[in-house]
Amino acid sequence: MGSLGVYLSMKIVFFSAQPYDKTFFARFNQFDHDLVFLDIQLNEQTAELAAGAQAVCVFVNDKVSAAVVQKLSALGISIIALRCAGFNNIDLEAAKSAGIRVCRVPAYSPEAVAEHAVAMLLTLNRKTHKAYNRVREQNFSLQGLIGFNLHGKTVGVIGTGNIGKAFCKIMLGFGCKVVAFDLIANKDLEAEGVVYQSLIEVLKADIISLHCPLNEQTKHLINADTIAYMKHGVVLINTSRGGLVHTKEAIKALKSGKIGALGIDVYEQEEKLFFRNLSEDIIQDDDIQRLMSFPNVLITAHQAFFTEEAMEQIATTTLNNIQLLSENAKLNPQAALLA
Ligand code: NAD
Repeated sequence: MGSLGVYLSMKIVFFSAQPYDKTFFARFNQFDHDLVFLDIQLNEQTAELAAGAQAVCVFVNDKVSAAVVQKLSALGISIIALRCAGFNNIDLEAAKSAGIRVCRVPAYSPEAVAEHAVAMLLTLNRKTHKAYNRVREQNFSLQGLIGFNLHGKTVGVIGTGNIGKAFCKIMLGFGCKVVAFDLIANKDLEAEGVVYQSLIEVLKADIISLHCPLNEQTKHLINADTIAYMKHGVVLINTSRGGLVHTKEAIKALKSGKIGALGIDVYEQEEKLFFRNLSEDIIQDDDIQRLMSFPNVLITAHQAFFTEEAMEQIATTTLNNIQLLSENAKLNPQAALLA
């Protein structure tokens, strides 16, 4: 706050902004900042568009590389605000060297993402996507729509942070046996019945859901070696980051039947595809085309976070983070990547 108790207005340039970002951020702009919404991604070529701003606000597929950080720094940008939880797309070392502060929204609505993971699992298992189309064509046959009871099945959860924890609780409610792998076991979850095991043991579950961040240790966590441990016909759900799964190996495993169903809300090469209408284009990415051709693959375009509650939380937390950083005030330690 300024010395007279008045908030100092800042210019904040939003990259990769969608119409719904504009709606929610404008609605919750309590500090009356000058919000500029650009629909293009932040990269070396577009960084110049932040000229005149004090802060930039970025999303999952904006590439905040060292070169981009340098350009932003030269323009006088002092804050990079991620309006998401994951931060694998930003070079934090470069931001630190440039003296730029970086914040994120650590937990805007873990339930939103966890519920979407469950929606994907239920769709793939009970084939409601096919049933919907069939019935619209007056095809009331059940042939090929058989699923299995989730009750009694073993669900393996990799990463039991905010989202993984919410997912575990839902699956416990379904009557599943929940086993988990994380670097740190969560005592509350253990008390509720979640059993922590080694990664190899968790990979043997009937259903596997990924909820760990993408980093050097987890890149291609799902690869030929780890797929080999899985049950034949496993259901794999990834709502975390595309880079966790080696796409070509997943395709091989789908072709052999090792992976019985795959639900992905995230995709390794998604930055060239997601959040846009490409219905008139010729898609050059053969892997996504192959994935789209499987009847047992469900792809959603990074929408797991997309609920009213989450969007409100993203907008209010992001604007609050920027405000606190601009006042040199204390930020929630989980939100402050570089404060
Ligand atoms: P979080 O930080 O609360 O939890 C991550 C958990 O993963 C932690 O418990 C951590 O100990 C664990 N972990 C770290 N490295 C691991 C490893 N090598 N093996 C196993 N576990 C490991 O994060 P969160 O809020 O639960 O989010 C998880 C991920 O979900 C984010 O990193 C983000 O990429 C993704 N996400 C996706 C969407 C979407 O819309 N699809 C939305 C929000 C977040």
